[in-house]
Amino acid sequence: MKASKMLIATLKEAPNEAIISSHILLLRAGMIRKLVAGVYNYLPLGLRTLHKIENIIREEMENAGALEILSSAVQPKELWEESGRWQKYGPELMRFKDRHEREFCLGPTHEEIFTDLVRTEVKSRKNLPINIYQIQTKYRDELRPRFGLMRGREFIMKDAYSFDLDEAGLDVSYKNMHDAYKRIFDRFHLNYKIVLADTGAIGGSGSHQFMAISDVGESDIIYCDKCGYAADQEKAESKDNLYKTDEAMLEVKEVETPKMKTIEEVSSFLKVDEKDVVKSMVYVDMFNNQLVLVMVRGDRNVNEIKVVNALGIAEHELRLATYDEILSIGSVEGFVGPVGLTVKTLVDSEVASMKNIVVGANKKDAHLMNVNYGRDFEGTVLQLRATVAGDVCPVCGAPLAMERGIEVGQIFKLGTKYSAPMNCTYQNDSGQNVPMVMGCYGIGVTRTMSSIIEQYHDDYGIKWPLNVAPYHAVIVPINYNDETMKEKADMIYNELRAAHAEVVLDDRDAKPGFKFKDWELIGIPYMIIVGKRASEGICEFKNRATLEKEEITFEEAINRIKNLEIE
Ligand code: ATP
Ligand code: MG
Repeated sequence: MKASKMLIATLKEAPNEAIISSHILLLRAGMIRKLVAGVYNYLPLGLRTLHKIENIIREEMENAGALEILSSAVQPKELWEESGRWQKYGPELMRFKDRHEREFCLGPTHEEIFTDLVRTEVKSRKNLPINIYQIQTKYRDELRPRFGLMRGREFIMKDAYSFDLDEAGLDVSYKNMHDAYKRIFDRFHLNYKIVLADTGAIGGSGSHQFMAISDVGESDIIYCDKCGYAADQEKAESKDNLYKTDEAMLEVKEVETPKMKTIEEVSSFLKVDEKDVVKSMVYVDMFNNQLVLVMVRGDRNVNEIKVVNALGIAEHELRLATYDEILSIGSVEGFVGPVGLTVKTLVDSEVASMKNIVVGANKKDAHLMNVNYGRDFEGTVLQLRATVAGDVCPVCGAPLAMERGIEVGQIFKLGTKYSAPMNCTYQNDSGQNVPMVMGCYGIGVTRTMSSIIEQYHDDYGIKWPLNVAPYHAVIVPINYNDETMKEKADMIYNELRAAHAEVVLDDRDAKPGFKFKDWELIGIPYMIIVGKRASEGICEFKNRATLEKEEITFEEAINRIKNLEIE
């Protein structure tokens, strides 16, 4: 390709709203352009990389025996009613009506569609197991679309769905995808961790996420270096930090705590540790229309996902109670405690094992000391706290560490969550119709593109790994108006073109510095600079990743590009 004929839309500066490197560089390198918040156009260079990412995924999915299809983004309400998700899925679901008042949504994920497809097309159990996938555009009306392709309202996902005869079959299909994902993310040269995950709105019994390690990631990974335990923070557990479990229970004492609402204020006023003052948070379970008291130790935070799971509701069905709602249960904001309240109560296991805790007295300006679980209040005991670095590994007891990651993929064991209500069944040996056992497997294709940039860039721009770079090499004549340089640059270009190399000739009438900057920003792995020594048959060969420059012969440069090994 000749640069003069290309759409090279590089920018000196990215708009202010771009704050993370991948967003800034995708815009500055002219790979994408924003249409509206969370929706982008892919320009020619960006699209080439996107296609390469898709093809690597495609190759590994084919290797794993999955079959590619393509379905529509438009999905009818009726299928979502069959699975029960039309009600359950929150405001992220983009819904619309056609002229006949029929209701639809734009698919945020495709469980219903694939389940429907398989129940009609797979007639015999002999066709099972089967794994079908697509690489297709998804829609989610994210509350805060941000970071460019990281969190869009429109994005490309690879989604696969497996259908098996039984749980044992699902385990095999799941492992097969787990391994395929490892190959895929290895081929992208990503530094990533595989972590245990919560199953969220999609549901099911087991799940892993693939996290590209990055400070700009929106997920916290809790992991143990000793035994390899790793989990998304939403899912992460820890052994109870045993604190004041052996004390003798003392008599409950009411104390005045005027205007002291925070843990810090109360603990310093009463001269006790922050851990002794237990947080009592009131939530509203909007699905069951009830108020719920959630208790964690004073130095802890509530993991709301654990609360949502304990209540069996969706994330958007939980919110904090208002001032008036707290009054309505006979308490007062800032002084809430479990004693005497008749609401559903969830108690973190650390709180249940502690003796003589401090809690709100359910009246203004008062707290109770020496309160004990079992004697003074009841509740369901489970882990509700957010696990943090330094907590104790639930598997081996070593201290846990924490780092940030970008969720680039997630795999789920769905079981019969969709196949049972939607009657996606096969006939077993005794002639009974039994639901197929499903798994689903997603990769954020466009988010992966951003994640690669997060891990592969420097001050000059993107450093694409060879197998996803828009082009492999660019020939830059220092001055294309110089006859020798032009002739030699053309010669190299024609030879490489004849060998089907992915090469650009920068034939633009521009200063060399300007051209170098463009290609470094765009991140083409190799640059062949045809300059002063062109008449001697010598060029400069520059490696984008290492920034190393060598003087070599034209022939050598041509051979190096011809012999590139693309994994
Ligand atoms: P998140 O927790 O980041 O919102 P999710 O868990 O809701 O993501 P999944 O339903 O697991 O997402 O979708 C599969 C993959 O699609 C994710 O692992 C992620 O890589 C990608 N993805 C999800 N939402 C977006 C989005 N808004 N923009 C870009 N990619 C996304
Ligand atoms: Mg996910």
